[in-house]
Amino acid sequence: MKRETKQCQNCKASFQIEPEDFKFYEKMQVPPPTFCYECRLQRRLAWRNERALYSRKCDLCKKDIIAMYPEGTPFPVYCRSCWYSDKWDALSYGMDYNFKKNFFVQFKELQNVVPRINLMVDNSINCEYTNQIANCKNCYLITSGSDNEDSMYTFRILYSKNVVDGYLMLKNELCYECIECMEVSRLKFVEDSSNSLDLGFCHDVRGSNNCFMSSNLRNASYIFENKRYSKREFDELMSKIDTGSYKNIQAYKKTFEEMKRKSIRKFMNSKNTINSVGQSINFAKNCYHCFNVANVENLRYALFVNDTKDSMDINNGISMELFYEVCTAGINASNVKFSVDAWPEVRNLEYCDSGRHGSHDLFGCIGLQKKQYCIFNKQYSKKEYDSIVLKIKKHMDEMPYIDTKSRIYKYGEFFPAELSPFPYNDSVAQDVYPLEKVQVVERGYHWRDVDKKEYPSALKSADLPDHINEVKDDILNAIIECAHRKECNERCTSAFRIIPMELEFYRTMRIPLPRLCPNCRHYQRIKQRNPLKLWHRKCMCQGAKSENQIYTNTIKHEHSADDCPNEFETTYAPERPEIVYCGKCYLKEVV
Ligand SMILES: [Zn+2]
Ligand SMILES: [Zn+2]
Ligand SMILES: [Zn+2]
Ligand SMILES: [Zn+2]
Repeated sequence: MKRETKQCQNCKASFQIEPEDFKFYEKMQVPPPTFCYECRLQRRLAWRNERALYSRKCDLCKKDIIAMYPEGTPFPVYCRSCWYSDKWDALSYGMDYNFKKNFFVQFKELQNVVPRINLMVDNSINCEYTNQIANCKNCYLITSGSDNEDSMYTFRILYSKNVVDGYLMLKNELCYECIECMEVSRLKFVEDSSNSLDLGFCHDVRGSNNCFMSSNLRNASYIFENKRYSKREFDELMSKIDTGSYKNIQAYKKTFEEMKRKSIRKFMNSKNTINSVGQSINFAKNCYHCFNVANVENLRYALFVNDTKDSMDINNGISMELFYEVCTAGINASNVKFSVDAWPEVRNLEYCDSGRHGSHDLFGCIGLQKKQYCIFNKQYSKKEYDSIVLKIKKHMDEMPYIDTKSRIYKYGEFFPAELSPFPYNDSVAQDVYPLEKVQVVERGYHWRDVDKKEYPSALKSADLPDHINEVKDDILNAIIECAHRKECNERCTSAFRIIPMELEFYRTMRIPLPRLCPNCRHYQRIKQRNPLKLWHRKCMCQGAKSENQIYTNTIKHEHSADDCPNEFETTYAPERPEIVYCGKCYLKEVV
């Protein structure tokens, strides 16, 4: 099959369907998509909520709970123990399929009555205000992660301890404001680094220790502003650095940004990859257009996926096979299409929401565990199931769902975003594709106005002590005003508190009090990352210097005085200031 160019139903941009894509659609027995890659991802992300948490009551036991849904949702919301109890039966909501009505319209009717679980928190102890996590202990306001301890305000950290304000971290300890680091400890303000100790304001450092304000380092120690010193000299330089002061941190951050501009970037962050394109890809083979994936093979258009093969259009999952258009899923699961929240050990699911625990052969079901051969939560025999599913697929093509913006949904499309139980700005779609309220409404999605709570007695962030040493214990009773004061589009809560474990961490690590609320801090970290997009570009290495003349090569490259001819796909847009090198030129410089 040849490459085909199509026009996206949603954004109207043209997009390519590659021969490899067609092969996959054939294997999965699905039609090719009508939305482009980005619109498909955005549509799925609209079905995942990580950070929008509300106080409400469990609709069964009436206890006060924290939930992803505020009071007043059409569907009931149950606490974890009620949802997993035998006090209710998801099959009691079963409906007959009505061939006179559209599939998605009927799905919405089922959605409005079946109880939903309050949070996605599994096997965790003392983890208040967390969501989309498993196997954690003593964590606070962390989202999307597993196997962590004593950590706060993080996004997607795994196997970590004492990590605060971390973003995409694996196996770390005692880290503050770090992004994409692996197997590191005692780090402050560090990005894209691994297997290192005692770093501050560093970027792209591996196998190193005791470095400050440096980048592009391998197996180095006692490096200060990219210069090597003796231990004694380094300690003396470091004795003049005080990270406990807010003013100092602002100045260091500025220098850090300038330093990063002068260092070189590899076109793609990767380790042990074969024939793969995207960003942050580790131990991968044949992965195309993938972001933050590891131990994977034959994936296309995947985001935040581990231990998975032969799948396409998937995000936030682990251990999957033959998945297509699925959000939040995995753990020994196979052959799942157009579904959300499908795990563990599930197989042969289509159009399911919260199909869990060994369920298999379900179509259009919600909240079923250990069930099989059900359609719209109604039990059938295997024979009946197979024949009705075939008829429904045909019916979906004959009577497609047409939304208010004239987008057409036949069999083969993921759930429309407006059917999501979350408003657009409560979902992670807002993290990746941030929109203003008018744009959300214009596109036919839902928007929730964030509560305009006022805290007139809140401590102004400008009045906080500059140095952590000046902070008294009574700060734990204070409400602190976020410096953004809701004037941003970042789910700003307008005020925040400091918790005891957090104060202790800041004192041990010599970190000043934050001036922004946890949500605004999260969005500042997102802003530092490249978008989930690829641009075709040329290596910026030109003879002895980088194209912008800022970086001077330290060694002669294969292309000598000529421009490096190598081209690649990268998440660095052409207009960005970073110096982006091909793998060969980068490896010449960073060894
Ligand atoms: Zn599109
Ligand atoms: Zn804020
Ligand atoms: Zn090059
Ligand atoms: Zn070069």
